[in-house]
Amino acid sequence: MDESCIPEAYRQLIEIREPVFAGKGIFAKQLLPKGVRILAESSCFSWENHCGYPRWDHVEDLYYAMDPQQRKAYNKLYYLDRMAPESAYSGLDPQNIIPRFMVGIFYTNKFKNAMLLAGSHFRHSCCPNVFTTEELLDNGQQVFHAIRDIQAGEELTISYINVRKTRAQRQKCLDEYEWTCHCFMCTLPKEGARVDKLLEECFKHQESQLRGLDTQEEPYWAKYYEVMKSQIESFKALGWGVEEVHRL
Ligand SMILES: [Zn+2]
Repeated sequence: MDESCIPEAYRQLIEIREPVFAGKGIFAKQLLPKGVRILAESSCFSWENHCGYPRWDHVEDLYYAMDPQQRKAYNKLYYLDRMAPESAYSGLDPQNIIPRFMVGIFYTNKFKNAMLLAGSHFRHSCCPNVFTTEELLDNGQQVFHAIRDIQAGEELTISYINVRKTRAQRQKCLDEYEWTCHCFMCTLPKEGARVDKLLEECFKHQESQLRGLDTQEEPYWAKYYEVMKSQIESFKALGWGVEEVHRL
């Protein structure tokens, strides 16, 4: 697999592979201890968020401003046509397929204010093992940290949605990505109502703790981990087995 899109400093730690289903994913190449920074990547282009959704001609300009190698990596990213708002295609000749493709890739993969050629390969989990800042840091990089110890060969996952919801609510949000979630939380036993209620309570608690944290701060992950730990304690209090809890 061509991994030139991964910044050189991180190629020892992570790799892009094709998992059993649905596109590509990012995997640990070695043990990644909790809290370790696993990727810091600069956006391959930037756009003004306050102008609303960039239109196809704007995306086209951004696309051609990249160098050929970046464009090659961009073209290989996952693509869902319907992720873009209709307004993004206004004025585009329907016969002109290529801008539609560029726009589809943009809206399928963009982070809040970054387009990442490596980071776009993280797949979703409702109990992710990787945490990322919501926005770019002041140095223009988006950073990713291990939430817990991650073994070599494990897939690295982030959350595409706000996971502090019940299972049914989460899946509804994920339908937009045409993603049926098979993560640990979504494959819990059928007596799901009780579990969903429990998760809801835990997430509410987690949310209240996260509110107001400064995401520009590097030690943010440590606070996040504290929150995860308290969530795990709540699970334990309700009689979950230690083994199940550790998988979170
Ligand atoms: Zn899930």
